[in-house]
Amino acid sequence: MFDVVIVGGGPAGLNAALFLGRARRKVLLCDAGVPRNRRSRWVSGFLTRDGVLPHDLRRLARDELVSYPSVEIRDLHVTSAAREDDAFAVELETGDRVSSRKLLLATGLMDDAPDFPDARHFYGRGVYPCPYCDGWEHKDEPLVAFGRGAAGRGIALELTVWSRDVTLVTHGSSELSDAQRRDLDRHGIAVVEDPILALDGDPDAGGLRRVRFEGGRAIETAALFFAFEACRQSGLIEQLGVEVGDTGAVTTGQCERTNVPGLYVAGDASRRVQFAVVAAAEGAMAAFALNTELLQDDLKHGMRETEPA
Ligand SMILES: Cc1cc2nc3c(=O)[nH]c(=O)nc-3n(C[C@H](O)[C@H](O)[C@H](O)COP(=O)(O)OP(=O)(O)OC[C@H]3O[C@@H](n4cnc5c(N)ncnc54)[C@H](O)[C@@H]3O)c2cc1C
Repeated sequence: MFDVVIVGGGPAGLNAALFLGRARRKVLLCDAGVPRNRRSRWVSGFLTRDGVLPHDLRRLARDELVSYPSVEIRDLHVTSAAREDDAFAVELETGDRVSSRKLLLATGLMDDAPDFPDARHFYGRGVYPCPYCDGWEHKDEPLVAFGRGAAGRGIALELTVWSRDVTLVTHGSSELSDAQRRDLDRHGIAVVEDPILALDGDPDAGGLRRVRFEGGRAIETAALFFAFEACRQSGLIEQLGVEVGDTGAVTTGQCERTNVPGLYVAGDASRRVQFAVVAAAEGAMAAFALNTELLQDDLKHGMRETEPA
């Protein structure tokens, strides 16, 4: 019986494991190794690690965990999890089943690339979901915003923080109201509704260079940022009956608690602000609450009492 099984070995899961290891909890961390930012060349905005490679951030965190012998890491997929009595039964891809007193899902989110040609090819290397993560590297360069209606207007205006040369591309009808068009016009943002034909450049060297449209038009650009929409959650969230909010993220309570007793959800899976450093902080908060809950259970059952003298 583990004290805590953590599903997911990104910043959220790894930081939770670190705090739980320091609290001498018996932890199993399972990671399938498919992080959300796997195509990225850097993790920006992570205190003392700004610009670190995503893979290196995880490696450094795993190296630190070696000092805590009660933490075990297995590189595999968790196929199912269920609450049984007061504990959790967790099934691994090997067919093995493990039990844990508490469960932390730090499974992140899965993004779909936007629906235009070559978007997947350039995803994370020229086509980005988040200007906070990749805007600085393209400051003052010509930028393309991608999105329709209010979402398109929003991402286009947001990009003016990083560059005054922004074009909104909508790949078909823009779905903009007259007021929204006037607003964009006031900020010098042109709108192109022509369908995208192809993206030019090399995702592994130099990134995006040009967006080409059906009909022959083209825009020279350094990066395309798309209006971020809902993402897909791990199937475990649904299996366990966790409440999911409007944005597709889990609605957690204090310290990442969920509506299911003993179950916590931390990191991208749980909140709207999706930065690696926020995920790590949520993992730490969940670890604090998990350890407190475990201690309270121990005290209730007399598990920390000493033998009478
Ligand atoms: C293109 C891109 C660029 C980004 N750039 C930045 C940036 O520069 N700075 C920044 O702060 N943030 C950035 N982000 C956001 C950042 O990636 C996330 O905020 C962060 O990775 C969230 O951490 P997490 O631990 O919640 O999830 P993740 O890092 O996604 O890790 C989740 C882990 O859980 C595993 N997992 C899922 N289901 C299972 C299962 N059933 N069994 C076992 N393992 C499972 C996955 O394989 C994965 O390894 C970027 C995101 C994208 C998409």
